[in-house]
Amino acid sequence: MAAITRLVKRTSSLPCAARRFLSQAPPHKERNVQWVFLGCPGVGKGTYASRLCNLLGVPHIATGDLVRSELASNGPLSSQLSEIVNQGKLVSDEIIISLLSKRLADGEAKGETGFILDGFPRTIKQAEILEGVTDIDLVVNLKIQEEALLAKCLGRRICNQCGGNFNVASISIKGENGRSGMVMAPLLPPAHCMSKLITRSDDTEAVVKERLRIYSEKSQPVEEFYRSRGKLLEFNLPGGIPESWPKLLQALNLYDYEEKQSVAA
Ligand code: ADP
Repeated sequence: MAAITRLVKRTSSLPCAARRFLSQAPPHKERNVQWVFLGCPGVGKGTYASRLCNLLGVPHIATGDLVRSELASNGPLSSQLSEIVNQGKLVSDEIIISLLSKRLADGEAKGETGFILDGFPRTIKQAEILEGVTDIDLVVNLKIQEEALLAKCLGRRICNQCGGNFNVASISIKGENGRSGMVMAPLLPPAHCMSKLITRSDDTEAVVKERLRIYSEKSQPVEEFYRSRGKLLEFNLPGGIPESWPKLLQALNLYDYEEKQSVAA
């Protein structure tokens, strides 16, 4: 644990509560954000976190990506990780913290500051460790209608060349009994990625259901952890990227910031 304490402390920025951050847009140039994205498998954490990272100039650190690249490296942890991930279970805190520490150290060596964490913390224990070593400014809790989650995971495709994330699922949920409907168009890849699409080995129906079960058991309590600290921003995705992205920027008070960035570009 000393490693993450040392590393995260060195990359920490000024402490600031979510409310304070939200009243200050655009963000200070000299202070990079330290945010966390929470949400069920398939909700779109990676998609929105990586877009925000591009906008804010901070690294997108997804512990799922760290696990998958460790798996692909065929290193000493590979076979153990493959078994855990393909059963939809959580990797031990010890392994996750060691992968995250290494990622932060590599980033620090390249001069990175700030981050958006995606997929971490996923247990109360991980949240406590993180709280012990750095200040998180804001935790965004993404939500979507439950029926969409399985379909989104099963429709997920990744280009094995450029690493782009796409989705072939076309989702249409009827509004009924006071609940609003939702339409989500597929997010199709460009023609040159089409023949290189792969599906994650843990995106099968049985494994996704197990990941959703584990999320509600182990990760949902993390929402309350941050809610009770006044850091949680709940965001219900109204549909696909075209409907959701502008609304998310508004909720984060970053709408004008994006416009200024694109004018300056
Ligand atoms: P998703 O959010 O779609 O379930 P991720 O890509 O975030 O998928 O994670 C893939 C897998 O990596 C998880 O099912 C789990 O086995 C492992 N993993 C990722 N982050 C963590 C974490 N913080 N703690 C434990 N295991 C993790």
